[in-house]
Amino acid sequence: MMSIQEQMRARARELLTQGTVQMVIGWEKGTFWYLSPPVFVTDPAECDRLVWDEFCTNNLAKYLLDYKHTEDKIALFVKGCDARGVVRLLQDNQIDRERIYLIGIKCPGMKEGRRAAALGEERRAEAPLAEKCRFCTHPEPVIFDELLGEDAGAAVREAAATAEGRFAEVEKVEAMSPDERYAFWTSAYDRCLRCYACRNVCPACNCRECIFDRSQSGWCGKQMNRSENMFFAITRAMHVAGRCIECGECERVCPEGIPIMTLNKKIIKDLNDLFGEYEAGIDLEELPPLGRYKLDDPDEFH
Ligand code: SF4
Ligand code: SF4
Ligand code: SF4
Repeated sequence: MMSIQEQMRARARELLTQGTVQMVIGWEKGTFWYLSPPVFVTDPAECDRLVWDEFCTNNLAKYLLDYKHTEDKIALFVKGCDARGVVRLLQDNQIDRERIYLIGIKCPGMKEGRRAAALGEERRAEAPLAEKCRFCTHPEPVIFDELLGEDAGAAVREAAATAEGRFAEVEKVEAMSPDERYAFWTSAYDRCLRCYACRNVCPACNCRECIFDRSQSGWCGKQMNRSENMFFAITRAMHVAGRCIECGECERVCPEGIPIMTLNKKIIKDLNDLFGEYEAGIDLEELPPLGRYKLDDPDEFH
């Protein structure tokens, strides 16, 4: 039986050769053995660049936006979190469903690349599950045109079930006094470089023009100081409120190790309390709690 990687390469080659798609987006081996960055394949002869290993961590959904204004049809390999990112983009009318072909892969959970690097290649099997995978509730893709592989998400689901809780970090912050909370968040965001890696990688951050690229608007400055950094943090968190698919990419790419997911999860927790349980990026038909109107909405309209 062919491995997942062999199946990926074979399907990519077929789709490109038949002209069903003009590009395939997947993962390849780059400079480092502990990272498998995205690859964009347009030539059938290049399909052997595609890899499937424990470091295919990047969420590929956001890259679809780079081809939003082309006529190309694009095939995308999707794990659970990539598929939820695609649902995010479809719900936000960012891309036509007919222009994408989704090849689902049942995800066994990815490894923490930086920890693997510290352990060394010979001990790579000991690297822990990536932080973003510890609470993953949907390792299998929620949307796909075809699906590769056997059920591989058992380890992830077991880890999620035994982990100390999806909102454990939020509850720790909630238990702090207001002064302690202020110190917690300011010490985190005082380190923010305003590199915008968290925004750039986020499938929910898909505005045509981001407020943080419009310094003439007067809303925000380019300075790196506490006030501007906190304005950035809170604004971005509110812009993805109810739409965040919990892929953990923002926190994974942050060069300063800022606990961005604690902020995102605080909002998810509050929205669940206010509007009922909701998981973004699962059901194409179910609109986010802040994107729909209900007669029994708990808030008043004035
Ligand atoms: S978040 Fe889930 S689907 Fe995504 S890499 Fe981790 S286990 Fe796989
Ligand atoms: S805010 Fe972070 S976790 Fe949420 S969708 Fe964006 S990148 Fe993923
Ligand atoms: S990735 Fe981290 S350092 Fe960069 S803007 Fe986001 S929070 Fe700030």
